[in-house]
Amino acid sequence: MSDAAGADNGLDLYVIAQQQFDRALSWIDDLKAGLIDYLVTPKRTVHVRFPVHMDDDSVQTFHGFRVLHNSSRGPGKGGIRYHPDVTEHEVAALAALMTWKTALADLPFGGAKGGVVCNPKVLSRAELRRITRRFVIELGDAIGPHTDIPAPDVYTNEQTMAWIYDTFDLFHRGQNNRAVVTGKPLRLGGSLGRDSATGRGCLNATERFLEHRIVDGLDSLAGVRVAIQGLGNVGANSMLLFHEAGAKIVCVSDSQGGVADDAGLDPLQVLAHKAEHGSVVGLPETKTITNEDLLACDCDILIPAALECQVRSDNAADVKARLIVEAANGPVTPEADELLQQRGIVVLPDIVANAGGVVVSYFEWVQNLENQQWPLDEVERKLKSRMETAVDAIVLRWQVIREKDRRDDGMSPTLRDAALVEAITRLSEVILQRDIWM
Ligand code: NAD
Repeated sequence: MSDAAGADNGLDLYVIAQQQFDRALSWIDDLKAGLIDYLVTPKRTVHVRFPVHMDDDSVQTFHGFRVLHNSSRGPGKGGIRYHPDVTEHEVAALAALMTWKTALADLPFGGAKGGVVCNPKVLSRAELRRITRRFVIELGDAIGPHTDIPAPDVYTNEQTMAWIYDTFDLFHRGQNNRAVVTGKPLRLGGSLGRDSATGRGCLNATERFLEHRIVDGLDSLAGVRVAIQGLGNVGANSMLLFHEAGAKIVCVSDSQGGVADDAGLDPLQVLAHKAEHGSVVGLPETKTITNEDLLACDCDILIPAALECQVRSDNAADVKARLIVEAANGPVTPEADELLQQRGIVVLPDIVANAGGVVVSYFEWVQNLENQQWPLDEVERKLKSRMETAVDAIVLRWQVIREKDRRDDGMSPTLRDAALVEAITRLSEVILQRDIWM
């Protein structure tokens, strides 16, 4: 959906996901024949078209869809996005990403994603409410606490989730329906810690990864120079938390540009300036930079936390960071992955680095089913433990496949390969244990 998407030979998220999957498969030699088709294709895609009464008294027909990529490990889990350019292709790729992410975090979920083709920027709150309610009614039992559980995504939020819950509840009287959707407002069953979960999970994953001492000279965040692209939910929380953990934030950016300060930025001043002026650009006593400058800046860790396809074949050679932590989904293209690997730059992949959001969504779902609300420290402790376990599993898998497969083509596995191999292996084991086709 980004402008940059497509820069690497017309790549979009769907093609990228397929390339990454194919590459990972080359490290697995005992996958049962016939299983691959099942793993690459969505289990179910529901399309709905529905009329909505608009504020100007006209009627407009909207197109929405929900893709359930796989449910062998449990009900589908994934966001719903509202965007004029959202396509089934893109949503299918993101649903697959959710399958791998939930498998890596060892959550009892499969992957799903949904979208409605609409432009929230020109729709009133009442129109958005009517679109959401009608979409949920049309989806019927394609979503549910034990079938497929939506969450917020691009241009949907906790209010959208409240409407989804309320509509579903109207049609399923007499049962606890809170677990039909996560990312709800706190008083409607949302979880403490959900807002900052992805940034916090990103911190937990990075700190654990550094402890493994895979990147030369980087074994903790103390004094480490960090650059962050994007200051939305994920980027802003990452900035605050990495700073709190001892890192020095040297550059940050938003859609209008960025700022840099070698001595280190004060995250609270950055956020205050952005809140007042709409952008970080112009923060006193900082150097103004472009987003391209940010990606190429002199730092130890680069955290792309905005859009897909940001590090590509045309700019990967400029990256100076030693570690890229993919807080956004798909910010590094497969071609860039290879170029970075050749240069010894390590990428901690999105399917683990940004899994904190879905982990706390899972906690919300559990709390809803139990009619409980856990204290914040419990949520954060459990999140840290899940993230650390996922990172350890990937590092172990990486070490195993690196040792086992000394390949003739000289290719060695990346952490993304290892993460996907781990996720694919976990999922295929469950499919075989269930004897799914018998
Ligand atoms: P958001 O909409 O809150 O923030 C996006 C930020 O990116 C905004 O600050 C925007 O100004 C900035 N931006 C847009 N274009 C930019 C550009 N060209 N250069 C620099 N900055 C730019 O979104 P978010 O929820 O923070 O999500 C960011 C990424 O993380 C997305 O890829 C999303 O899919 C992924 N993600 C989010 C979550 C979550 O819990 N929010 C979980 C997993 C993955």
